[in-house]
Amino acid sequence: MRQSKNFTKATKELPKDETSFNAQALIRAGFIDKLGAGIYSYLPLGLRVLKKISQIVREEMDRIGGQELLMPALNPKDNWVQTGRWEGFDALFKLGNSSDMKEYALAPTHEEIVTPLTQKHVLSYKDLPVYPYHIQTKFRNEKRAKAGLIRGREFLMKDLYSFHVDDDDLNNFYLNAQKAYFKIFERCGLLDKTYLTYASGGSFSKYSHEFQTVTEAGEDTIYICEDCSIAVNSEIIDEQNTCPNCGNKKLKEDRAVEVGNIFKLGTRFSNPFNFEYTDEEGKRKPVVMGCYGIGPSRILGTVVEVHHDDNGIIWPEELSPYKVHLIELKSDNEEVKKTAESLYEELMNKDIEVLYDDRDLSAGQKFAEADLIGCTYRIVVSEKNIKKNIFEFRKRIDKKAEMISREELIDKLLLA
Ligand code: ATP
Ligand code: MG
Repeated sequence: MRQSKNFTKATKELPKDETSFNAQALIRAGFIDKLGAGIYSYLPLGLRVLKKISQIVREEMDRIGGQELLMPALNPKDNWVQTGRWEGFDALFKLGNSSDMKEYALAPTHEEIVTPLTQKHVLSYKDLPVYPYHIQTKFRNEKRAKAGLIRGREFLMKDLYSFHVDDDDLNNFYLNAQKAYFKIFERCGLLDKTYLTYASGGSFSKYSHEFQTVTEAGEDTIYICEDCSIAVNSEIIDEQNTCPNCGNKKLKEDRAVEVGNIFKLGTRFSNPFNFEYTDEEGKRKPVVMGCYGIGPSRILGTVVEVHHDDNGIIWPEELSPYKVHLIELKSDNEEVKKTAESLYEELMNKDIEVLYDDRDLSAGQKFAEADLIGCTYRIVVSEKNIKKNIFEFRKRIDKKAEMISREELIDKLLLA
């Protein structure tokens, strides 16, 4: 991508009401635009990162047997009345006044839709287990939407639902899902700071499990057992004030963002829809369910909170909008442009994602913007160095650059 052609620009102008660091950094660098509290557009750079996060989530869900589908955001009221959540779900956006006078909900989660949908396809124990999921836009009328992408009123969620013959089968899958979640956070560069956290359950399980990433921007308080890397959410600390794994009484308090949440639902949703299957002996039994949520847009905001310095964002490799930022320094010597252009072509031909700063700006402006954007690698093409046939190559996170040949540079990027 040529930066001269990018229709969005880095900007110094910030919306006055934007107080969260992640949104400020992303707006400044040209990744997102703010439309209202908790409502953002993803610009080309931001959408690339959001798609990469979604793709990581997709791959890890497919690996544990998930089957992707897409359910509607517009939900008939009846489905929500059936489970008691038309009145019971606080942040539900309700739509009325349509020409047919029917009422709808904008889905904040999808148990009300996926349960009767799966019911149509599951008759006997032979059809179980199944793990449908989707990556889809959710709506919640959040009271405090002040944390940028961490708390949107419209946001992206991956929600997978598991359907089982019994608790044992659910428990096995639940552990697989936990491992898949850690794999996702590892690939998103959040593993070191993310803790499996015990949180309140529901009528069918004592606890649910959250994945909490430690950062000052977090809205939750957790208590960490440093021996087990397990935490307890403050909402249950009165009943569970030791490590659930080893009994450790010395827990460390920290602020964190809930980036994922997995939950054993039991028959909470199969009951209202009367969702049963026929077992091996021909008896009818209720289907047992679990749900597994993760927020790609919240992960995006959280990664920015965790990975930045005073100059801007520092993307983990797998999320970098482009793997490498190629910067051509202004020069009267035509060889500089020629070399940069040919390197740009070569990188693209080798399928290395590259953002090419081919604009007529000062070196200082280009470097400052490259730091804001934060691509993992940077190459500088300058008159001084092309004479020696070398390039300045540096990781965004490193202070020092290497001076290397074109061949070495390509090899490094192909291996990275
Ligand atoms: P919170 O307690 O932070 O409000 P929640 O427990 O209501 O979240 P879940 O219903 O468990 O959230 O949603 C599953 C996942 O969806 C969360 O772990 C989070 O990653 C994401 N998510 C939930 N609400 C939002 C939101 N308002 N903005 C962005 N992501 C969200
Ligand atoms: Mg939750």
